[in-house]
Amino acid sequence: MQAQRSLPMFPARLDTPSDELVSHAQAGPRYTSYPPATVFRPGFGAAQAAAELAALPTDPLALYCHVPFCSQLCWYCGCNVTATRDRSRGAGYVDLLIRELDLVAAAIGRRQAVAELALGGGSPNFLEIHDLARMVTALRERFAFAADAELGIELDPRDTTAPQIDALAGLGFTRLSVGVQDFDPEVQHAIHRVQTVEQTRAVVDRARAQGFRSVNADLVYGLPGQTVARLESTLAEVVAFAPDRIAVFGYAHLPHLRPHQRLVERSLPVPGLPERVELLRAVLDRMADAGYVRIGLDHFARPDDPLVAAMNRGELGRNFQGYVIQRTQALLGCGPSAISDSGGAYWQNAVDLETWTQAVTAGELPVARGVALDADDRLRRHVIMRLMCDGRLGFAEVAERFHLDVAATFADELRQLEDQHGDLAVVDRAAGTITATPLGHHLIRNVARVFDRHTPAGSGGSPTI
Ligand code: SF4
Repeated sequence: MQAQRSLPMFPARLDTPSDELVSHAQAGPRYTSYPPATVFRPGFGAAQAAAELAALPTDPLALYCHVPFCSQLCWYCGCNVTATRDRSRGAGYVDLLIRELDLVAAAIGRRQAVAELALGGGSPNFLEIHDLARMVTALRERFAFAADAELGIELDPRDTTAPQIDALAGLGFTRLSVGVQDFDPEVQHAIHRVQTVEQTRAVVDRARAQGFRSVNADLVYGLPGQTVARLESTLAEVVAFAPDRIAVFGYAHLPHLRPHQRLVERSLPVPGLPERVELLRAVLDRMADAGYVRIGLDHFARPDDPLVAAMNRGELGRNFQGYVIQRTQALLGCGPSAISDSGGAYWQNAVDLETWTQAVTAGELPVARGVALDADDRLRRHVIMRLMCDGRLGFAEVAERFHLDVAATFADELRQLEDQHGDLAVVDRAAGTITATPLGHHLIRNVARVFDRHTPAGSGGSPTI
């Protein structure tokens, strides 16, 4: 555990000229896992996942359940989604998800302890109340939820009803994440997602009245038609709700991978890199002005939020949901495309709803691909995650944890940092540290990539700014 820090590590504001950031921008992984999901292979399937499940430690783990339906498709969407207005599909889906839970529980071989549950998607609020209740009851029957387990859910304010929120509170949910993206009407038209401030405020107010402890708002910068003025206006509206946490993700425009994203180019241009930098600058300024503390690259929290204390203790983690308080060592994902992390391996369920359905119906774990981590992967994962979360790496902690000489093991990487990336990170061999510079914090994915032995130079992903 690291010493208590009194200052946020990632610079609250962006003082670097735009062209300097643009010159460093490259495509690359977001490092929500290491190895990145692009490395997962079909050779890791149901049998390997079953072996990992059977060997899970008894410590409480985190659960994620994916609900793959939305009533319409947002054109910028990067998630695994089936757009349908037929809500009756939710009941059959919950039946299948419960069958998957049975398969997972059988492979584990005991009633595994759980400290956290997250429902995401898609839109979990696509499910009718009784189907949400069936899902949560089934989860509680198959897993031993800690008395203080945290239950969180993503909600689309456009079609979340007050009775749904009341029911979720009754089921024990206390954390809520609402999608916002941008409130500007032209931007909303361009991304095919029209959502009013009032709809959003109604969900937040109802949740708070029902005792939800934590409200998170998700925004996106880099959307078509976004300008600094429009984004600042959205940020002001969001800050007025006083969310406990705000995440502002950079839009990943990858139409070669997600063809529907070509639709966003129809009406308004997607901002280029210089414009993205100015949008990011505005985000950081407005968040700092509003008193939010920057957490890592793209999260912000009120100063009294537990995420800030975790950051100051060096106990931030990073997974597919972004920056989190590192409470558990394993994460199990259920539903199509969900990713699991046993600590020793990652695996992903079949992305396609039909393929996932066939596997579950046949009584097989619906695993499509994955990767078992070797000793080198585990070491590099730790290094990359500490850099992504802390912007800093202490050699002594790594040496103690992995029983090795960091300077000798990473001789090539340290030389690469010193010779090629001195403006992004400072290697202090005497002190035994790597510390990102202010510029390097904003480009921490570039620094982390030096330790990535799987991602070929120049390979795809979203821009690092
Ligand atoms: S609501 Fe979210 S998951 Fe559904 S289509 Fe829109 S962006 Fe994708």
